[in-house]
Amino acid sequence: MLALAETFYSVQGEGTWTGSPAVFVRLAGCNLNCRFCDTDFSLKEFASVEDIVARVRALGGDCPMVILTGGEPFAQDETRLLIEALRDDGRRVHIESNGTIALELPSDVWLTVSPKERLDPKMASRANEVKLIVDGRVPDEWLPAFGERVVPTFLQPEGNKPANIALALAAVKARPERFRLGLQTHKFIGAR
Ligand code: SF4
Repeated sequence: MLALAETFYSVQGEGTWTGSPAVFVRLAGCNLNCRFCDTDFSLKEFASVEDIVARVRALGGDCPMVILTGGEPFAQDETRLLIEALRDDGRRVHIESNGTIALELPSDVWLTVSPKERLDPKMASRANEVKLIVDGRVPDEWLPAFGERVVPTFLQPEGNKPANIALALAAVKARPERFRLGLQTHKFIGAR
């Protein structure tokens, strides 16, 4: 059984796939405790892998994209089985992770890594995109972990605060080859 916080159908509001319809599966629990975290990933219920796959179908029909988020999706062992089952059901699996827990992933799984306190090098080298939270400073100390491999690196202003937006904008303009501005566009339209 997996510990679940919520499931819903919306659009991806962030990153490379912004605007794409997606079913979100928010897994409960996280192995970190970030100061600025505003996500409710508390446990609401337990659900089997089969139940979650059925729920994804009921919510999104044939929508190809499913986003596993949290909390930290890899904090639960059965997430591995959920990924397999969703792929078997024809879904394109996207995962949003803090990158602390290493797991082998099929090559068609899209991995967004948003490093916080620490980072497993295996997950850094597997990331398809990187999200850095700008909260009073640009946390560019994470860049070496991702090496010279060019992956989109989004600077996301925490809380859309003007000071954080200004910092992120300045950094993006200073290093256009490395950074993109990361906006939580779903919040602009009141979507989840
Ligand atoms: S890693 Fe993400 S979900 Fe976990 S506490 Fe930090 S911000 Fe929240």
